[in-house]
Amino acid sequence: MRTLLIFVALLVATCAQRGFEGDQVLRITARDEEQVSLVMSLEEQEHLQLDIWRSPVRSDLIIDVHVPQNSLQSFKVFLEHNNIQYSVMIEDLQVMIDNEKAELEPTTMMERTTSSFNYDKYHTLDEIYSWMDSLATEFPGLVEKLQIGTSFEGRPLYVLKFSTGGTGRPAIWIDSGIHAREWVSPASAIWMAKKIVTDYGQEPFITALLRKIDIFMEIVVNPDGYVYTHTKNRMWRKTRSTAPGRKCVGVDANRNFDAGFGGPGTSNNPCMSTYHGPYPNSEPEVAAIVNFVQSHGNIKSFITIHSYSQLLMFPFGYKCVPPADYKELEMLAKSAVSSLTSLYGTRYKIGSICEAIYQASGGSIDWTYDQGIKYSFAFELRDTGRYGFMLPARQILPTAQETWLAMKTIMEYVSNRS
Ligand SMILES: [Zn+2]
Repeated sequence: MRTLLIFVALLVATCAQRGFEGDQVLRITARDEEQVSLVMSLEEQEHLQLDIWRSPVRSDLIIDVHVPQNSLQSFKVFLEHNNIQYSVMIEDLQVMIDNEKAELEPTTMMERTTSSFNYDKYHTLDEIYSWMDSLATEFPGLVEKLQIGTSFEGRPLYVLKFSTGGTGRPAIWIDSGIHAREWVSPASAIWMAKKIVTDYGQEPFITALLRKIDIFMEIVVNPDGYVYTHTKNRMWRKTRSTAPGRKCVGVDANRNFDAGFGGPGTSNNPCMSTYHGPYPNSEPEVAAIVNFVQSHGNIKSFITIHSYSQLLMFPFGYKCVPPADYKELEMLAKSAVSSLTSLYGTRYKIGSICEAIYQASGGSIDWTYDQGIKYSFAFELRDTGRYGFMLPARQILPTAQETWLAMKTIMEYVSNRS
């Protein structure tokens, strides 16, 4: 009996979600590069289990880092000993996760149409996938659900196609949720998808746009990771792939594209959150996008949505060389961001990935740009570090609405040149 009880206890413990009781997120303001490397070098010390939420960027030396309760005291002593300034960004991560969980309500019968769906809440993958079905059913002449592949764990990878007909039309690609914990990214994309179908036939902009151009949206690029953030570990970023002899699970899908693969801003340690994977396109989620983009052959603009930091970026990330279209991309990004800011005053920075943040290799928009898709952009949505990945659900709608304005600016520009 006793053995059975112990067994049951162990089973419960293994099945339980990773808890973050007493974990904090610290905002470190480094004084110089030396302090930055001191802090960043601790990431490789696996026993500390540090999880970098935000790396220092060109314009500031701020590092947001999630520190497990066990390492908290020693980490703070280390910072103080080295005279490194910090403040507590999130006092107790688990409290925040519990609050968020309390707001996730299971789908009711009422929600089974796209009009009654709660766009101001975060949703599970099942809810999102059944919402996609509703959208395709309710707007049969406009929306189609395509499967472009299968995830590592066997989940379908769905793309919504918005089209008014024709074949081989120029297209705009929008994806979200490549990094699992960036929940506001798919949440905003869901709202934008609904916005497209609601506005079509009502609003001149989208009506005219869809007469010329198709829009493809992959709302959850990394479904395995997304499910994992709901069931096991809210802070998961990577895919959920495994390989014989590999010590840790998952690859950073946005380091896995064939653009400067394995270069700066990636890790070859499978346990790190920026692990680039064994070879380019090793992740089925990445290969599916690559195959889709190549076989489509007429994608004019590729836009990927992340969070957080409030940035609109363009190539390159794997090299710090301005792309040939730098001036045009910069101008378009500026104009997109100024529409975005006009709604709620949310400030964004723009630039190439290399100049806006840091060198980062194997990212999707570098690969698409090198494929000839000139209008390749990456958004980092709200916020700038009050809540980070734990952005409250009440900010989904304003985030989506303001981002839509930037998106419209880009889409209109691209459409006029297609
Ligand atoms: Zn991301």
